Amino acid sequence: MPTFRQLLEQARAVVREVSPESVATRLRSDDAPVLLDVREPDETAEGHLPGALLVPRGNLELRVERMVEREREVVVYCASGVRSVLSARTLLDLGYSRVSSLAGGYGRWSDLGLPRVRPTHLRADQKARYRRHLSLPEVGEEGQARLASARVLLLGAGGLGSPAALYLAAAGVGTLGIVDSDVVEVSNLQRQVLHRNADAGRPKTESARDALTALNPDVKVVTFAERLTAANVLSIVRGFEIVVDGGDNFPTRYLLNDACVQEDIPLVHGSVYRFEGQATTLLPGVGPCYRCLYPAPPPPELAPSCAEAGVLGVLPGLIGLVQANEVLKLLLGIGTPLVGRLLTFDALGTRFSELALRRDPACPTCRPGAIITLSDEPGRCEVPDARA
Ligand SMILES: [Zn+2]
Repeated sequence: MPTFRQLLEQARAVVREVSPESVATRLRSDDAPVLLDVREPDETAEGHLPGALLVPRGNLELRVERMVEREREVVVYCASGVRSVLSARTLLDLGYSRVSSLAGGYGRWSDLGLPRVRPTHLRADQKARYRRHLSLPEVGEEGQARLASARVLLLGAGGLGSPAALYLAAAGVGTLGIVDSDVVEVSNLQRQVLHRNADAGRPKTESARDALTALNPDVKVVTFAERLTAANVLSIVRGFEIVVDGGDNFPTRYLLNDACVQEDIPLVHGSVYRFEGQATTLLPGVGPCYRCLYPAPPPPELAPSCAEAGVLGVLPGLIGLVQANEVLKLLLGIGTPLVGRLLTFDALGTRFSELALRRDPACPTCRPGAIITLSDEPGRCEVPDARA
């Protein structure tokens, strides 16, 4: 009887090893090999390579023929590269000819920071809740799991943030951050549908948390009952992957824009005024930023907020949902985002229109090499960069 060491040596003599880097470069190519993960379920639950077939080594002979054609190229991996060599040897014996073992296994792959996915396990109640998503191939279980792991920050639990937060929670976005320092006033209820009559006087963050978790208990709501300032903006936006701007004043809008450009976080902009609304998606490095659109804020006397100017109650609902739609598309990687396009809506004429937007090569915030200085006074952010 050969010892384990001898068996391993025999296997190594016939099984080719491939490097994680060489496999990673072929992941999305047309000739990508079949990735076969032979670890145990408690190991693969922590994560695996994208698109890998999960077949524990003990079930390999039983299941592999049903799952992989013999002509296909197969890369086998385990935790460290030992079980995979033995498994690859088994596949060679079964008649698979193009088989190799991933050197260093999942451990080495992880250490190199190469792409990994966590397996999707929707509970029965989640499958029921998201049935209309699961029947869309563009979403499916994988997309729904992606939404569950997503972290989206909403600036404002007001007119725009209310519909956006409700629909993102309903859609299953796992973590919603809410920044708002206000308390609910009765005059908010005409459009801020997160809040109820009985919430008057409560902090909006608390009212929002109650409404969102009542709608979908799986959603984790992180609240920031504070005003966004140059001092706290970075610590708030960091850790979120998309920010929804539902703010109602220019200083905050510029501050959020500058912070998102600096942190490379997509920012979905929306604003409403009387009977008109607009939305666009600001993708750092790809499309224009808010300062490319509006290099300087208007003087305060020309920029009244909703509180002063009035706004038709349903209008923020429409624009907030355009923003939520942008968020879902970005998270799922589907469709065409509103990047480089300003969508405007005229509520009185019921007309949507679109304006093409361009990056400003001299933009003080997003031009290459710009040094961003966060400031509570937006006019003062326009600090020339060091080379100018
Ligand atoms: Zn810019």
